[in-house]
Amino acid sequence: MKSKLPRGLFSRRTRLLGSEGAFRLGPQIVEVESRGHRVVKCNIGEPDFALAPHIAEEVKRQIDLGQTHYCDPQGIRQLREAIARTVGARRGIPVTPDRVVVFPGGKPPIALAQQTYCNPGDEVIYPSPGFPIYEAFALYLGIKPVPLHLAEARDFSFDGRDLAPLITPRTRLIILNFPSNPTGGVATRAQLADIAETIQRLAPPQARVFSDEIYENNLFDGGEHHSIASMPGMAERTLIVSGASKSYAWTGGRIGWAVLPTAEEAQVFKDLNINYFSCVPAYNQFGAALALESPLSPPWIARMCASFQERRDLMLAGLNAIPGITCRRPGGAFYLFPNVAGYCERLGAVAAHADLPERQRKRTSPSTLLQLFLLWRHQVATIDRRSFGHLGSEGQHYLRFSIATARADLELGLERIRAAADDTEGFREFVREKRFT
Ligand code: PMP
Repeated sequence: MKSKLPRGLFSRRTRLLGSEGAFRLGPQIVEVESRGHRVVKCNIGEPDFALAPHIAEEVKRQIDLGQTHYCDPQGIRQLREAIARTVGARRGIPVTPDRVVVFPGGKPPIALAQQTYCNPGDEVIYPSPGFPIYEAFALYLGIKPVPLHLAEARDFSFDGRDLAPLITPRTRLIILNFPSNPTGGVATRAQLADIAETIQRLAPPQARVFSDEIYENNLFDGGEHHSIASMPGMAERTLIVSGASKSYAWTGGRIGWAVLPTAEEAQVFKDLNINYFSCVPAYNQFGAALALESPLSPPWIARMCASFQERRDLMLAGLNAIPGITCRRPGGAFYLFPNVAGYCERLGAVAAHADLPERQRKRTSPSTLLQLFLLWRHQVATIDRRSFGHLGSEGQHYLRFSIATARADLELGLERIRAAADDTEGFREFVREKRFT
């Protein structure tokens, strides 16, 4: 049916707005399920644990105490104090509550920082593959996106030499994300020291570092979290961003925060909060304040990490045993990001992509065809490489698997992917049906 929307209804900017593949896939999964299939969901980055009871109890208690009204747009004092203490102690830097701002999740500060620090034409450097919102907002706001391409051969990490050629006098934001979504890459202290030295030496004084540390508690193999803000001279120019979603399996609580380099910058973000959403529910903020400092939280987090580590090992061995797939061992977060070049080739996805008309070809990729084939024909939901920053992603064949899914489901998923590898006839049919257009 032809749309009845008037021409010119949407601003030019609206057409530039991207999305997050993990959420965008939802309706397609519902459609596959409505046909009676059970989908193995490795798409969404959300721990499959219930909120820890000590936090849930505190939230309920605060609702009963009547904490259900407007509150401080910067974040309630108790939470900002807890953030200042814990963020500062972990990174060995002084942090005061007047530099802390609370948001509805770790996502909003990504957009707000780009709005705050960048004019159209300024440049933002961000990791690719990386969390899609970094690139999406740069495009939306007319900021020049400068992807820093991460190499699989170096476990998706990087150092100052990789960053240096991307820094220019127009650089205003440099986004880092360790542990990383989607690769699970982590940085060593030495790498961060090297990156910090490069930024100090080359970046203009008004360029800020946006350190997205939302996975700071999701580490494997007893790994320790390191932050660029701990490096000499970096706390003065770094926004440290984290939140409760991934640390406490509390994606629905919508609690995130940023520590700004100065109180003046915190005031700007507070004003943005007032303009956009006034404040974040106080009862959840009290829950987060308790979560940050309760002695019950570290053992709870350790149990969650141990469970993810078991699933990582299961999935890593399983994926690496499938012809055409090779997967690096992630050090953190809860994703696997295997190279599926051989698998795409074998199934005919590379050739099928090359045969598409140019307009379609540009909007998709072999791993996108594979992602949709696995969903529609074999009922496994994953996310393609293009969904993690599409600029310059041509020729890279990866899928992201979230392992925050029941062990039995991961095993079933592996079985289905193994079977799908031989379904070349099914793939040809799938391409003929053009499910991906
Ligand atoms: N940053 C990264 C790297 C993420 O992966 C996510 C969530 N997937 C966020 C930020 C946003 O987290 P939240 O749900 O707290 O908004």
